[in-house]
Amino acid sequence: MKFSLRRLFSGVLAVSLIGGAAGLLCSCRRGFGADAEGKVKVVATIFPVYDFAKRIGGDHVSVKMLIPAGTEPHEWEPSTNDMLMLEEADLFVYSGAGMEPWAEDVLGSVQNKDLVALEASKGIALLKTEEVHDMEDDHEDDHEDEHDEDGHEHHHGMYDPHVWLSPKHAEAEMEAIAEALIAIDEENADYYRKNLEEAKKSCEELDSAFREGLKPYEGGYIVVAHEAYGYLCREYGLKQIGIEGVSADQEPDAARMREIIDKVGEYGIKCIFFEELVDPKVAQTIADEAGCRTMALSPLDGLSKDDIDAGRDYFSVMQDNLKALVSSFE
Ligand SMILES: [Zn+2]
Repeated sequence: MKFSLRRLFSGVLAVSLIGGAAGLLCSCRRGFGADAEGKVKVVATIFPVYDFAKRIGGDHVSVKMLIPAGTEPHEWEPSTNDMLMLEEADLFVYSGAGMEPWAEDVLGSVQNKDLVALEASKGIALLKTEEVHDMEDDHEDDHEDEHDEDGHEHHHGMYDPHVWLSPKHAEAEMEAIAEALIAIDEENADYYRKNLEEAKKSCEELDSAFREGLKPYEGGYIVVAHEAYGYLCREYGLKQIGIEGVSADQEPDAARMREIIDKVGEYGIKCIFFEELVDPKVAQTIADEAGCRTMALSPLDGLSKDDIDAGRDYFSVMQDNLKALVSSFE
C-alpha cells in the first residue's frame, strides 16, 4: 500500500514535470507545427506582410507573424525565442523602410544559411519623415525646428515605413512576396502567380474606391493618432495632422496639443481619429477640447487577436478605413 502510494506520487511528479516542460516549450518556443511539413515556412514581421504572404502563398505556405497580434509594433523588439522561428523558416518577410529597425541585426545573428530575407517595400518611392510632417501645412511655421532639435521625428529612421496604406504600394509588396515564393518553390509558380493576379485586381478595386470616395474631400484634413497616412494622403489628396509622429514614440506636449486643437478649429475638422492598439486618451482630450467626435482608423501596423481570429484582412480593414474617412468629412 505504502509502496504503491509512493509509486503513485512519483508518477504524478513525473507527469507534472513532463507537463511543466511541455508548457515551458509551448510558451517559449513559437515554432512551426507538423502541419507546416511540405510547405514553404514563412516568418512575416507585421500584419500587412503577414496577410500578403498568406494571400499569395495560400495552401502552399505556413505563415507565422513575428510581432504578436495586438502589439503596437513601433517599439517592439524580438527576443531570443522569437528568433528561433527564423532558424526553421524558408522565408523572412519584413516590410522595411525603418518599420523593423532591428531586422538587419536579427538577420546577422541567424544561423539558418538557407533563409531568404525579403524587404517587401524595396523599390517603392519612399516619403521622408520630414516630408510627411511638412504635409501638415501649406505654409511654413516654427515648430519644425523644435522637432528637429529633439530629434524625435527622426530617430527611428529617415523614411515613412507605412507604404501599405496606399493600395498601389500594397500591390508592390505582394508582387515582391510572390517573386520570393516563386524563387523558393518554383514547382508552384503558377499557383502563386494566379493568387497575385487576384490580389492585384483587389488592390486596383480598392484604389478606385478610395479615389472616388475621397474625391469630394480633396485637400481635406484628417487628425490621426500617429503620422502613418503619408502615402494614403499623397495618393488621394488629403492632409494629415498627427497627434504623434511617424514612429508613434512620443505623446504630444501641451504646446503641440494646443497647436492641434487650434488647427481643428481653423480647418473646421469634425473628427479626431484614434487607433485601436493605442490608448485613445490623448485623442479624446483633443476632441473634448475642440468639441468634435472621435472614430477609429487603422494604420494596419497591427491588428488585435480578435480581429485576426474573425478573419479581418488588409482589404476589409481598408474598406472600413475608407468609410471612416468619408464619414469624418460629413
Ligand atoms: Zn505606425
